[in-house]
Formats: sequence, structure tokens, C-alpha cells
Amino acid sequence: MRRPVAASAAVSPDGTMGRMNHTETTRTRHRVRAIAPDVVSELLERDDAGGGPRMVLDEEGGSPMRCCLGRSLPGERIALVSYAPLRRWAAETGADPGPYDEVGPVFVHVGGCAGPAGSGFPDAMRGDRRVLRAYAADGRILRGRYVEAGDGRPSIEEELDDLYRDPEVAAVHLRAVEFGCFLLETRRD
Ligand SMILES: [Zn+2]
Repeated sequence: MRRPVAASAAVSPDGTMGRMNHTETTRTRHRVRAIAPDVVSELLERDDAGGGPRMVLDEEGGSPMRCCLGRSLPGERIALVSYAPLRRWAAETGADPGPYDEVGPVFVHVGGCAGPAGSGFPDAMRGDRRVLRAYAADGRILRGRYVEAGDGRPSIEEELDDLYRDPEVAAVHLRAVEFGCFLLETRRD
């Protein structure tokens, strides 16, 4: 069920998100989350697959960074670690993802970084093709949605808003299509 987008949407006609915060719109009932600095530190010691970080000299740059939801700079030294987003979320909320738990590779900065630049949807995590996966508060997956960029197509923000209209949706993850990589987590406010 898709409702028409309200005229007060926080999305401009070209599909990009303005510099709006969460007090300026009543439509956004969720928050985009980067991997928190304390979790990044833990992952760099021992990641969610039980291993150590793999250090990468990112010569070309442009890798998606889950600690700040930006892209790496050319020549930057970054770390590849395994991360279990549902397991980490469950530890905070008491959810039980059980068999839905997944571990996958993410890039993080080493030595700390400034974190996300703002609270809106980060442009660096957009792409031509993305998948949204919606989870219930108990950790069950509820549904998935394929999002393709293009004129006249719903933006990721619109798709997120639409998914969160279902009160059962507690969290939605964004993933890349081809590699299936976890890009970011959103949680209901
Ligand atoms: Zn970072």
C-alpha cells in the first residue's frame, strides 16, 4: 500500500534530502545510524566473526564507511571488519534475531573519525540499486524492498517512510544489491 507523498516531504524534486533535522518534519519517524565509536573500537579488537581487522590501503578511495556514512579518501588506511548489525541491535533492545542474525564485512576508520556529518540520509550511501530490509522488534524480518534510482522513482527516504508506516517495523537496514553488503541501519524513533 503506497500513499502519495505529502507536499511537506523533506525530499526535494531531484530526490535529494535537504539539510533537515528531525524536528522539521513529521514524516520521518526513524533515525539513520552509523556504527557507534565504542562499537568500532570493539570491532577493531575482535570483530563479530571473532577475528581481527584486515587493514586496507585504499588507494583509490570511495569505499563506504559505516562509522561516518561517508566515503574513504584516496590513500586512506582503513579497516575491514565483520559486523553483525542485528546482533548488535538485539543486545541493546532485547530482540532475538535468532536465525536472522547475519555477519558481513564493513569498512571502518581506524583511530576514530568525526562520525556522520548530519542526521539526514547520507548521500554517500545512495546508489543505483539498493535493498531495504525491514525487521520487527523481536528480530524477525518482515519484508524487503528493492530501490532503484531514477527519475520518477521513489527515493530511499520515501521508501523508508513508507516501510515505517507499518507500526510493526522497528528497524530497516540498507544493503547494496550485488554484494549484499550492509550499508546502514535505521531505527524507529
Ligand atoms: Zn568514519
